[in-house]
Amino acid sequence: MLTDKYNRPIKDLRISVTDRCNFRCTYCMPLDEYAWIDRAEILTFEEIERLAAIFINLGAEKIRLTGGEPLLRRNIENLVAKLSVLPGLKDLSMTTNGSSLAEKATALKSAGLSRVNVSIDTLDPEKFKRMSKRGDLNRVLDGVFAAKSAGLNPIKINAVIERGVNDDGILDLVEFARSNGFGLRFIEFMDVGNSNHWQTSNMVSKREILDIIGSRYPIVEHGRRAGTAPSVDFEFLDGGGDVGVIASVTEPFCSSCTRARLTADGKLVTCLFSESGHDLKAMMRAGASDKELSDRIEAVWRSRTDRFSDERLEALQSATGYQPEAHKKIEMIKLGG
Ligand code: SF4
Repeated sequence: MLTDKYNRPIKDLRISVTDRCNFRCTYCMPLDEYAWIDRAEILTFEEIERLAAIFINLGAEKIRLTGGEPLLRRNIENLVAKLSVLPGLKDLSMTTNGSSLAEKATALKSAGLSRVNVSIDTLDPEKFKRMSKRGDLNRVLDGVFAAKSAGLNPIKINAVIERGVNDDGILDLVEFARSNGFGLRFIEFMDVGNSNHWQTSNMVSKREILDIIGSRYPIVEHGRRAGTAPSVDFEFLDGGGDVGVIASVTEPFCSSCTRARLTADGKLVTCLFSESGHDLKAMMRAGASDKELSDRIEAVWRSRTDRFSDERLEALQSATGYQPEAHKKIEMIKLGG
């Protein structure tokens, strides 16, 4: 089995299909200083399909499509149809901002998509517009319900919680998810990219999130699905479903990180906080064979030593502290979540 320096296999592949997004969420989008990827540099569906098959041969079992906003990629359902029939793939999902889901949900389901994660950080329409700079909450909610009607299952809501911004809406999100049968994952605010002004004081920890949830709904811990999921899951004791928290800052999970990422312009990235990637597109367009591409991916993965969130926690707990601006990273809009 292909494993990295810490014995972690490739199990998951996150494919960014575009860096375009119609929202400008402050924790993800660097605004003015960002240069969009040139369209000619974006992988074609055929190129993505070819690389996905190679990753599956190397051990990947799950593929998640991300962006930017993946539904902005024209005819994305055609890519879903190509990927969903790849032999060996066990799970095909998508993370979306939901703004086009109402129009796309049925086509995505028919093409073979299993499930979706939709980012909804608040259920307050005004705050939603402020946080996303331009998002319309009602359109997103229409999308979530369309996904449910189309049979995408499970539907999970992702919410990044930032202190003083949306931490007052945690229980509203819990009630919304419980009453509609949606999964819910809270995410600690992280220093993704280079300009989201992260500091620990802005972050609401897993402990605080659980205390708020537990103040109304008693919960019991389940742990991580398959032992490797980023989220630690909890079950409501009254049978109202479950809720998870992704605690990248306070309880990092690098030791079980089996995720590889492919940027929209064909770079293999081995950590959400990497400075740079490995250019598979250049190889492909220069005529590399599947074997040569596979060998390259294998060599990159075998030398992987990423454990950024572990190192951040160690730095936060040290005398010198942690300076987020000292670490240059690929912008999240290129990598997806
Ligand atoms: S910091 Fe990097 S290595 Fe650690 S869990 Fe996140 S993506 Fe994986």
